[in-house]
Amino acid sequence: MTIQETYKTRAKELLSSGRVKMVVGYKAGSTPDRRRPHFIRTPEEADRLILDSACIANLSGYLITEGLLSDEKSVGIFLKPDGVRSLNILAAESQLNIEQIVVLGFDVNNNEITALKGEKAEDFSTLIESLKEHVPQTPGNPLLERIEAMNAKERFAFWEAEFSRCIKCYACRQACPMCYCRRCIVDCNQPQWVNTSSHTLGNFEWNIVRAFHLSGRCVGCGNCDRACPVNIPLRLINAKMAHEVLGAFDHFAGMSQTQEPVLASFKKDDSETFIL
Ligand code: SF4
Ligand code: SF4
Repeated sequence: MTIQETYKTRAKELLSSGRVKMVVGYKAGSTPDRRRPHFIRTPEEADRLILDSACIANLSGYLITEGLLSDEKSVGIFLKPDGVRSLNILAAESQLNIEQIVVLGFDVNNNEITALKGEKAEDFSTLIESLKEHVPQTPGNPLLERIEAMNAKERFAFWEAEFSRCIKCYACRQACPMCYCRRCIVDCNQPQWVNTSSHTLGNFEWNIVRAFHLSGRCVGCGNCDRACPVNIPLRLINAKMAHEVLGAFDHFAGMSQTQEPVLASFKKDDSETFIL
């Protein structure tokens, strides 16, 4: 039996037994190489489920749809390791009750899809621990190496050119499971904290504010830069921030549902090099 068939059967069992009220998975998208979310409420609907190497979007953001978990019933969801990490963060930030989530775990590597053993977020903790080794390090990462080799002026020019294409569509924010505020600061206009125009200052404000907001929270799923219509390398700036918080605070985002947020917690032995 293929992994897809195995997981279809599992989704049907979860629904027919009443263990979950819904399974969030993938179905065919608008082109052969794209997948879209599939919200499965009956075993019959599971027949349209697709699980292949094109299933790369992190679906965890759908779990915090208003009211979805308020009846305390469980929901099953297809998640890769980055999705499990974001699930842990959503639980740590009190956005959901992790006991209501049944994970149908899988991974995609070199177009090969593998099933992950377990069904609760904690079942994947050893796997997530091992991912810490793979936080982008500067040597060996051509894009990070390129950024590191620049002086401050060149780096500013690089990001100024990249951000100049930003049209403030906020697709990156909408696609990000970690951007869940009902009202984002950029949508407030009294006072207008972040300029809404697509000019240099406004674009820097938006993208830098978002990068800081995601520091120690981004799981590198890539939902944001896949959503960006002008191909700004958003994962690059987030990867750089992940590298910094790992080096400075030994913090790898999404390790567990009890992990403290790196920018909102304090340890007595923090180096304090960031205090000017
Ligand atoms: S910032 Fe981008 S890569 Fe990071 S969690 Fe959000 S969508 Fe995923
Ligand atoms: S998706 Fe791209 S263009 Fe749209 S706001 Fe985000 S960075 Fe700007």
